[in-house]
Amino acid sequence: MGDRLRLAVPNKGRLLEPTVSLLHDAGLVFDSRERSLVSSCENFPLDILFARTEDIVEFVHDGVADMGITGRNLLVESGRELDVRAQLHYGRCRLEAAVPTDAPAQTIADLDGCRVATSHRATSERFFQDRGIRVEIVPLSGAVEVAPRMGLADAIVDLVSTGSTMLVNGLRSIGTLLASEAVLVAPPGADGHATDVVTMLQAVVDGRERRYVMMNAPLARLAEIEALLPGLGSPSIVPLARGDMVAVHAVVNGDELWGLLGSLKAAGASGILVLPIELLIQ
Ligand code: AMP
Repeated sequence: MGDRLRLAVPNKGRLLEPTVSLLHDAGLVFDSRERSLVSSCENFPLDILFARTEDIVEFVHDGVADMGITGRNLLVESGRELDVRAQLHYGRCRLEAAVPTDAPAQTIADLDGCRVATSHRATSERFFQDRGIRVEIVPLSGAVEVAPRMGLADAIVDLVSTGSTMLVNGLRSIGTLLASEAVLVAPPGADGHATDVVTMLQAVVDGRERRYVMMNAPLARLAEIEALLPGLGSPSIVPLARGDMVAVHAVVNGDELWGLLGSLKAAGASGILVLPIELLIQ
């Protein structure tokens, strides 16, 4: 393997495209069309190993790969002790318990004595055991949402992102067992190039969440405008040719941007420019 680090990533499914975009956004150059097995980065000592999403934790645990990107739900299901080195803010979903719409259960505790169908057996068993809720787990490998209709189970535990599949199948959520998103995992204590990869990917994730905002502001109202801009530390103030005006530059959370623009304008800001941030290294 030499000095090259091996990063295992999904070779298909819903985490594939956002993972390839993340790596490209981090500036890594590799051939993402060739996903048969390994793609070597041209500009960093990193080999991308394309694998089944479900196998990635095992690859990292066994040392076949040095790091991996997979769903947090799969790490929890595996029970393996890997470090989550970065939360990647895509592939968000929840492991939820649901019952037929007309069933009496209102909360997860109401499932005591029920049969629960799931393909997330270990996580579900641990969750119910930890809370002293006695259930019979019916392990299925797929199409879990039809189990109640087929008389196989009283309830299900399944991954949900919008909830529409449950709705279509006449199911009602009664609680969340786990919140998940894509994560970067590594064996405890991994360092060297592994730390560089963490820094790179975290910089993309942090950059995506923020915007760089530039505006002109009357010097007389600067304090008012500064108070509106929490961002990263204090904003940069740049003098302008017109002595009574300054340019204010700040990094703001993307989520807060639209709420902020009206207040900035009301405080006298003009010519407001909003730019994306490619990488943010904190
Ligand atoms: P896939 O390879 O398409 O089966 O996706 C596997 C992973 O995608 C899951 O283990 C989750 O981490 C993640 N995921 C995100 N949203 C959902 C969803 N609505 N249903 C199933 N998996 C999801």
